[in-house]
Amino acid sequence: MGFDLSGMNPNMTSPQPELPPMGKDWGDEEWKLYAKYEAWQNENCGVHFRSNVWWWRPLWHFVTTTCDDILTEKDIGEGSFNNGHKISKTKAGKIAKRLYSLIESGKVKEYEEGYKEHLASLEKTDCKTCDATGMRVDPKYSTQLTKSINELETTTRVHNCLQSRGIRTVGELVEMEEIRMFKIKNFGRKSLTELTEKLMDLGLHFKQSNSSSVAGKTKCNMCNGTGMKDDWAKSYPFDADNVRKFANFCANSGGFRIC
Ligand SMILES: [Zn+2]
Repeated sequence: MGFDLSGMNPNMTSPQPELPPMGKDWGDEEWKLYAKYEAWQNENCGVHFRSNVWWWRPLWHFVTTTCDDILTEKDIGEGSFNNGHKISKTKAGKIAKRLYSLIESGKVKEYEEGYKEHLASLEKTDCKTCDATGMRVDPKYSTQLTKSINELETTTRVHNCLQSRGIRTVGELVEMEEIRMFKIKNFGRKSLTELTEKLMDLGLHFKQSNSSSVAGKTKCNMCNGTGMKDDWAKSYPFDADNVRKFANFCANSGGFRIC
């Protein structure tokens, strides 16, 4: 989700150029048209202000706290939704003036630095998706890994070995390296062969030494296998450049609509 602000009566230095047709593959000509359109947009900064939700939230927060005497409570609330809420030309002009003066005085830069410092101070937290292990169960193997070792129908000798080591599920078994299995009392070559075959039947295998991957599990994509995650707050960037862009938009928009 993103925010698309459009100027209701923008200042324009040149008429809007034609946009290439949508819904087909663009050739060189279409890309040239598009580049022209982009250049026009940049020159006419009151036409559009686009922002993804990550950039928008902190920007709007900053704007509403520094312009709370210009905006009504309704304006402030509606800025978090894509409802087409209108901000009048008078208000847009006042916001621009306020932001420019805050930029001039260095207040915006100061806020940016404080904001970034705060984000940098946030500690990483355990990844909840993978329980901080960095690995997730491959859905294809999820039923196999939760199986009890009783279901493997091993010989009593092997079964007792696994029990004595506290291994209760197939998932726990595949986290063992072969070499570690031999440390279990009464566990020998024959037992290993037996278990290796049982695992093969399930499409699994013992953990390879020198590898961090475990059979039936894949690297957690939420934390990239680290088991740790950045605080969510770090997804919301803020910088003074963005404030200036927004101020330019406000100043030239002739009032705007938030969609
Ligand atoms: Zn994770």
